[in-house]
Amino acid sequence: MTDDVLTADQIQAVRDRVAELMPGVRADLEALVRIPSVSAASFDQAQVARSAEAVAELLRAEGLEVDIVTEGGRPAVIGHVDGPEGAPTVTLYAHHDVQPPGEDADWDSAPFEPVERDGRLYGRGAADDKAGVLAHVAALRAHRGALPVGVTVFVEGEEESGSPSLPAILERHGDRLAADAIVIADSGNWAIGTPALTTTLRGGLRVIIRVETLDHSVHSGMFGGAAPDAVTALVKLLATLHDDAGDVAVAGLDEGVAADLDYDEARFRAESGLLDGVELIGSGSILSRLWTKPSITTIGIDATSIEKASNTLAAKAAAKISVRLAPSQDPARAFELVRAHLEEHAPWGARVTVELTEKGAGFAADADGPLYDQARSSFRDAWGVEPVDMGVGGSIPFISDFAARFPEAAIIVTGVEDPDTRAHGANESLHLEEFARVCEAEAIFLARLGAQAAAAATAH
Ligand SMILES: [Zn+2]
Repeated sequence: MTDDVLTADQIQAVRDRVAELMPGVRADLEALVRIPSVSAASFDQAQVARSAEAVAELLRAEGLEVDIVTEGGRPAVIGHVDGPEGAPTVTLYAHHDVQPPGEDADWDSAPFEPVERDGRLYGRGAADDKAGVLAHVAALRAHRGALPVGVTVFVEGEEESGSPSLPAILERHGDRLAADAIVIADSGNWAIGTPALTTTLRGGLRVIIRVETLDHSVHSGMFGGAAPDAVTALVKLLATLHDDAGDVAVAGLDEGVAADLDYDEARFRAESGLLDGVELIGSGSILSRLWTKPSITTIGIDATSIEKASNTLAAKAAAKISVRLAPSQDPARAFELVRAHLEEHAPWGARVTVELTEKGAGFAADADGPLYDQARSSFRDAWGVEPVDMGVGGSIPFISDFAARFPEAAIIVTGVEDPDTRAHGANESLHLEEFARVCEAEAIFLARLGAQAAAAATAH
């Protein structure tokens, strides 16, 4: 490719440099994993402060001017270093907090003691998202002393708790995060050996449904048969949220069609742990069901436990549902549709109240233009194959906050995860070879942006 902004030798030099750096990058990653920086409120928040400090130290060592900022939430780290005159600025995002580890017994090794097995590094945060932090550090190290672009690093401390103070951080410090490109290293790749840009994310709602049928609980022998109990009414109501095929039955929600990637039922069954004989629900391609169509899951029910069961008609019951939304869907409009559906389908005249507890917008990147071209070229340089565009069925609500705050920036969602990462689960792990590719790609991306700007300047 003669018109490329970097020569093959230049690309190889960056790759070689990153390869030399990987042992040190891994050691620093392991040190971060050993800090149990769980941002959930019931955990020791001093550990989140410690991990912020450790991240700040890593960035200072690369010559960045670093601040730890808190705007009523957990500490975030912002670092900046200028690039050459006329070079673009790139903001690199990751988060240093982690999910709770869950039960130790579910892990094959201690969650906060990183261990390598079969080419994977196990530990809470080993992938999500401390490896994202270290990918940024690796890219900086690869260009130590000769950074081709200006770089701002933003490492949040509460992503796993829903980024409650991110709007305040963007409000107070947003000018420092403005950039031509924002690389968000909190997603993953399509498969081992196949890099991906994440171009769509679903939005989401969480909704509590309360059902009441009686003004007090009564004896099932005396009243059962004529009076409805609230639990059965609730279950009937929940059952209306899907049609017989398992598609969401709430009328009017947006839906789209996912990219046509190779993903078959066998892979889905293996990755999801679906039991033999249990059918998939919904219609359309599996990836459309996961990435671009709405889904509804019952995530909690308040009803009398079996242990406390007596012969009683429950007067009230409640459920919490998680609604995933098509990337383009306006969450406020979606909630109105869900509420209307629930109110209209109240069985037997039961009293139904519907409360929205959380909402987040999805994301659909307009993934074209020179910055995306360079990102795709960087992936190709590192992996030797073309990257694919993928969606993610989950939400990363802050990405829509970034998109709204920085409408001019190319938002490039990448990451270190692969289908076996088990982020948020027991035995979370990082594929170390793929991680090296991620670090190479990011270092090459910075080199490409710098070279592209330099080429544009001499052309004028
Ligand atoms: Zn994450």
